[in-house]
Amino acid sequence: MPARRRSVGLKACRECHFLNPVGAQTCGNCGSQKFAELWDGLIILYDVEQSKIAQSLDIKKPGKYALKLY
Ligand SMILES: [Zn+2]
Repeated sequence: MPARRRSVGLKACRECHFLNPVGAQTCGNCGSQKFAELWDGLIILYDVEQSKIAQSLDIKKPGKYALKLY
């Protein structure tokens, strides 16, 4: 079993991994309504044009993202 961490007031979008407030109805990045409340690996992206992580996750907008969803 991998170590699991409960999110602290944030939930991750299942489509784009963007971290939204737990109370959000839709993802602030892509508008999806599918969320994972268990996630791990917080990354904060500022320069999505230059970031290899952003490219590999297909992230277009700066913000906070989860690396792994459960
Ligand atoms: Zn999203």
